[in-house]
Amino acid sequence: MEDSKKKPVMIGVIVVCLGVAALVTYMRSGDDSGIGGISANEMRWVKCNNPACKAEYEMGTRKYYEDLTANMNPNPMATSATALTCKECNKRSLYGAIKCANPDCGIVFIEGISGPDDHPDRCPDCGKSETQESRKRRLSGG
Ligand SMILES: [Zn+2]
Ligand SMILES: [Zn+2]
Repeated sequence: MEDSKKKPVMIGVIVVCLGVAALVTYMRSGDDSGIGGISANEMRWVKCNNPACKAEYEMGTRKYYEDLTANMNPNPMATSATALTCKECNKRSLYGAIKCANPDCGIVFIEGISGPDDHPDRCPDCGKSETQESRKRRLSGG
């Protein structure tokens, strides 16, 4: 019974990983089509930082980067430049988020919430960081 609940989460994690890999490929390709090269069907997680809202949902990866670029144009140094407008509360408090890679956890949290000295994908709930674990795997001679 429990397994049927975990399956969609694991599929979600795989989809997110594929999305990140695809994005890295786009960025490394140096293709000047940039954002335009991201598939219109690609989705990523976002989370609202407004304590009264806390909405978390998936939005188009392309739209996310388009909005982010539009934000940064007038004032790239503003700390609010990385926040998008939340579709639920209409406040500029929406941030890029990550779905925890731990299938037993699976919460959605704001990217880099553990601070600048830690991995941005460190889960505040279970402490798992996929970046750290993949590095560990590499160091252990994998
Ligand atoms: Zn909101
Ligand atoms: Zn977690």
